[in-house]
Amino acid sequence: MQSVLQVGAGSGGMVVLDLVCRDPDVRRIVLIEPDVYKSHNVHRHYFGHNDVGRPKAELAARWVQQFRPDLELQTLVVDLLDRERQPEIEAAVAGCDLGVCAVDAEPAKYHFDALMRKYQKPWTLGEVLSGGIGGWVHVFRPGDACYGCVASHLQRTVATDATPPPDYADPAAAVRETTIPANKASIGVVAGLHASVTLGLLAGTDPGFTSLLLPLAKVDGVFAEALRPFRFRIPRSPECLICGAHAGPAGEELDVALDQALARLGHE
Ligand SMILES: [Zn+2]
Repeated sequence: MQSVLQVGAGSGGMVVLDLVCRDPDVRRIVLIEPDVYKSHNVHRHYFGHNDVGRPKAELAARWVQQFRPDLELQTLVVDLLDRERQPEIEAAVAGCDLGVCAVDAEPAKYHFDALMRKYQKPWTLGEVLSGGIGGWVHVFRPGDACYGCVASHLQRTVATDATPPPDYADPAAAVRETTIPANKASIGVVAGLHASVTLGLLAGTDPGFTSLLLPLAKVDGVFAEALRPFRFRIPRSPECLICGAHAGPAGEELDVALDQALARLGHE
């Protein structure tokens, strides 16, 4: 019996949820997703125009129910960073065997990492690159490199794109990258890999990497070839301010991570 905590049921997260929920060993899923389904979601998502205006968490639960009426699915229609809802979120983290992160926003990834490390849970992350030219799947295990270690290592050593993965939720957004469409096939490939690695981890398989990069297109100056994967084993950095020797105790660290995340969002 496995219990999974997933954050995000967007166009990629929904693919992961759909594939993970089919595994009969997965008996319980807690889904954190605060958003409402919008008309611009429709062409890259699982649901039609009739569902616009409904909470994504409700739609996701309805989808899973079709295939796994036996599965216990709990939805938390809440922002992962909502300070007042942290006790509820932490209870969900404490009760899970593994976390799945399918959100694009950096503050949410750092906060999810802090939560998972506080409760010593493994977790996986999928990231689609700008324009759907490729994607990453990362695996985090207790005691191994944290998200900060991995992100800073890859920024130093791998030239994919200088920008963080964009948020595809709003094609009309002011930030240019968010207007570059990743097609549903690119999202599906990366999210499918994310689900496959997640199911392997649940079954006790060591994927043999911390980070997998799969280019989906040949892009001058970025990817010499399409569909040749790169695997990275990224060690924990002793200098890491989040998980290294200089980091504070877990509870304090979580507060710092949340403060930093909220500051970056412009809350105060
Ligand atoms: Zn670290």
